[in-house]
Amino acid sequence: MAVSPKDLIREDVLRLSAYHVPDSRGLVKLDAMENPYGLPDGLRDAVGLLARETALNRYPDPSGAALRLRLREVMGVPAGMDILLGNGSDEIIQILCLAVAKPGAVAMGVDPSFVMFRMIATIAGLRYEGVPLGAGFSLDRPAMLAALERHRPALTFLAYPNNPTGNLFDADDVAEVIRRAPGLVVVDEAYTAFAGASFMERLSEHPNLLVMRTLSKLGLAGLRIGFLVGRPEWLAELDKLRLPYNVNVLSQRVAERVLASAEVLLEQAAAIRIARAVLLDALAALPGVDALPSSANFILFQVADADAVFAGLKARGVLVKNLNGSHPRLAGCLRVTVGTPEENQAFLRALRETLGG
Ligand SMILES: *Cc1c(COP(=O)(O)O)cnc(C)c1O
Repeated sequence: MAVSPKDLIREDVLRLSAYHVPDSRGLVKLDAMENPYGLPDGLRDAVGLLARETALNRYPDPSGAALRLRLREVMGVPAGMDILLGNGSDEIIQILCLAVAKPGAVAMGVDPSFVMFRMIATIAGLRYEGVPLGAGFSLDRPAMLAALERHRPALTFLAYPNNPTGNLFDADDVAEVIRRAPGLVVVDEAYTAFAGASFMERLSEHPNLLVMRTLSKLGLAGLRIGFLVGRPEWLAELDKLRLPYNVNVLSQRVAERVLASAEVLLEQAAAIRIARAVLLDALAALPGVDALPSSANFILFQVADADAVFAGLKARGVLVKNLNGSHPRLAGCLRVTVGTPEENQAFLRALRETLGG
């Protein structure tokens, strides 16, 4: 008798649907918060040489020491704090969740927020509590503090700025959540390059704070490099759950080389911030479009019929993210990544045609 998946696989896993990545071939890709700019030729040549010289027959440095040193310097990691590398910050979220997943343990976040918090926590066996955001997607301080008391989460995730809403929470509200949390608070700063705000400098104030970053939104999404910054006593425990060699040798070496020229990425981020302001103005001028100010490299906007607008944009060659139906607070919402000025113009043209037609 052949064994079938339903005999062996966990019931919660059987009920899950796989993370869906839409086919973007031939489309202007504005759905995944990627940096639209490639690397300049000089850096591409340097990366090519590095790949040629790298001993692919050898395992990578298990701790990624050279890359961590470079990150420390470029990202302003405070003295006394350690760095843990992940295969993207998704893997760091997984490590965090696995580490605290005692029977009955709870992870908390806000709603709507980054879907991977809930998804990974649930797979790790944690109960996940999402606290509804307040007006204008702000942090609802009283609701958060009450939920901390009630659920006593081992782990609380706050994306700063938040995805998919794009706003920065009030820093005092976040600090109060960190102070009152009975467990760890992870401030996810995936979009920090576009926000000019961070909790990195406040790590020493808060013994239960960890700051998570990624190179994905900065221009290196394909390398899959995320990292967690925090006190050595926390990171030493988390490091036990990290698989050996979790960041491959090419990613380590290329990231280290590109970050040696970090100004290239930071200039691209600055260009994206300027393009964001232009795009927001253009969206604000469109009747029937309600766009939210953003501190990230994307803009959330609401239309009367999001499914039709999504389809209309796609038919005109532009892929955005349709959030309609993903959460009650996101009814009618689409999320567009800020691209190059040309890509943004293509998006606006397609949007005007779609709304007009
Ligand atoms: C995109 C994103 C990440 C990045 O995940 P990686 O696995 O590092 O690519 C993390 N957190 C938030 C809130 C994001 O939007």
